[in-house]
Formats: sequence, structure tokens, C-alpha cells
Amino acid sequence: MRIAFIGLGNMGAPMARNLIKAGHQLNLFDLNKTVLAELAELGGQVSASPKEAAASSELVITMLPAAAHVRSVYLNDDGVLAGVRPGTPTVDCSTIDPQTAREVSKAAAAKGVDMGDAPVSGGTGGAAAGTLTFMVGASAELFATLKPVLEQMGRNIVHCGEVGTGQIAKICNNLLLGISMIGVSEAMALGNALGIDTKVLAGIINSSTGRCWSSDTYNPWPGIIETAPASRGYTGGFGAELMLKDLGLATEAARQAHQPVILGAVAQQLYQAMSLRGEGGKDFSAIVEGYRKKD
Ligand code: NAD
Repeated sequence: MRIAFIGLGNMGAPMARNLIKAGHQLNLFDLNKTVLAELAELGGQVSASPKEAAASSELVITMLPAAAHVRSVYLNDDGVLAGVRPGTPTVDCSTIDPQTAREVSKAAAAKGVDMGDAPVSGGTGGAAAGTLTFMVGASAELFATLKPVLEQMGRNIVHCGEVGTGQIAKICNNLLLGISMIGVSEAMALGNALGIDTKVLAGIINSSTGRCWSSDTYNPWPGIIETAPASRGYTGGFGAELMLKDLGLATEAARQAHQPVILGAVAQQLYQAMSLRGEGGKDFSAIVEGYRKKD
């Protein structure tokens, strides 16, 4: 299939590589010429604009930083909607607010294009390994069209409902993740300060009612989980800046819905303070450092 892939960053580039590996012909566009050159060597075709990339494609996929980029890539004069042929299935995999996802999809519908949202979880490791989870907001027909292609980049492809619901699922999950990481950090730091061996404490939590992904897979205390960023100086993994972005999306969506997210707002402020200290590039589990005396 000829696929337009626009936005080839930390996530988009490995996703596009998996599609090339699966035998698709890709029309590529990004502002970064270096990544375009790398993917062209693998057989991708470089386009001059999102419009050009979309024009000859049977499917359009975008993976961009934030809502403003999604708007411009779709709606500008040289954007996807200026070039895409009516009837071409289209999906945005960026993490953005549900409102923008719905608005851009509505603009696409006016051009006869069925556009869905399919944000992902699984990080850059999952993007490279082709094991991402896609949370898809789309009509049933569009979901059926997208599923086989998304399966070439992911392992778990979930139809969440109509357009926008993929983004809702993603921001609600990350709201909980941001909060639960802080909860585990507090418990681990308190146990340490009171004098229990942190490995013993983690073992108890992980076989008791406090257990969660932040404690048993991604524990923020160094040396508990060998594969977690905490055991390699909080490098790699999911950056605090990205968590801050997702908590901003969640608190803003909550504001629009008049829905309280009290712990989410506190969590957002804690990651914001981390960002201000210049630590936004560290993995988000480094939030625990705010609870520890420096060694
Ligand atoms: P990134 O910043 O590494 O990549 C974004 C790419 O988009 C860059 O290559 C940039 O040049 C390109 N771009 C920006 N504006 C453009 C434009 N107008 N036209 C064409 N290309 C443009 O970001 P990423 O880490 O790949 O994340 C992409 C999305 O996935 C974000 O919404 C992020 O929240 C989400 N996400 C990221 C992760 C992660 O671990 N990195 C995990 C899950 C979801």
C-alpha cells in the first residue's frame, strides 16, 4: 500500500521503518531533512509537503508533537487536506486534546475524508519493536481499514469509540500514571527514611494492595527493577516533559468538562517544578528525587 507518513521523530521514524519493512511504499514528510535522508535510504519517497505526500497515497498517517502541528499539517494551504483524494483513510497518532482531534476530523469529513485518532502507548522501545498499543477513535469502517496496518506497528489495537475517544483513553491513562508514580515515590521515600530496606518494601507493595505498574514494572527507586530508568540514572524511558504535556491535556480537558482532577492538577504542578529545575529531560520517574536527600 502507498502510505503518507508525516512526522518522523522519536516515535514516527521507527514506526515508518516497520511499515517499510512490512513492504509498504512510503511518502515521507518531516521538517527534519536528516531523518528524511535516513528513511529514503531504506526505500521511502521524500515529499515536498504534507499536501504532496498525501496526494498519491492510499492512507495517511501523522505522528506530530502537539495540537498546533496537527492543525497546520492538515489545514494549511500545503497541508494534507489540500492534497488528499476523497475517500482516503487518514489517522493521526499524535497525543493531542480530544477537541482538536474532533475539529480536524470534521474538516477532513468536509473533504470526504474519514479521519480518526490513534494515540499510542509503549514509548520509543515499543515503536522500534512494533509492540505499541493504539487507542483508536474512529468509525467502525475506518477502524476495520486501519487495523491491519496498525498491527504492523503495534500489538494491541483497541477501538475506543468514535473520533476523539482514542485521545480520551490516552489522557485518562496518563493522568493516572502521572499520579501513581508520585504515590509510589512517596511510599518508597517514606519507607527509606523510616529505615526499611527498599527492596523488602517494594516486595511487600508488589504482593499487596499498593501494587501498580509504577511499583512493579517501573519502580522509581534505584536498584529495585533492573530494567527501569531508575536503575540507569533516569535516562531513556518516558521524559518528564512528555508527562507534563499529557497532564496539561488532561487538566485542560477536565476544565472544559467542569470535571475536577484534583490529584491530576497537583501532579501537573510537581512535574512542572521538575521541568523548571531543568530536569524535564529525565525519565518521569525521577519525580522521586524531590522526596530524597541528595546522597
Ligand atoms: P518528536 O518531537 O521526536 O517528533 C516529532 C516530529 O514531527 C519531528 O521529527 C518534527 O520535525 C516533526 N514535525 C514537527 N512539525 C512538523 C510539521 N509542521 N511538518 C512535518 N513534521 C513536523 O516527538 P515524538 O516523541 O516522536 O512524539 C510524537 C507524538 O507521540 C507526540 O504527540 C507525543 O506526545 C506522542 N508520544 C510520544 C511518546 C514517546 O515516548 N516519545 C510515547 C507516546 C506518545
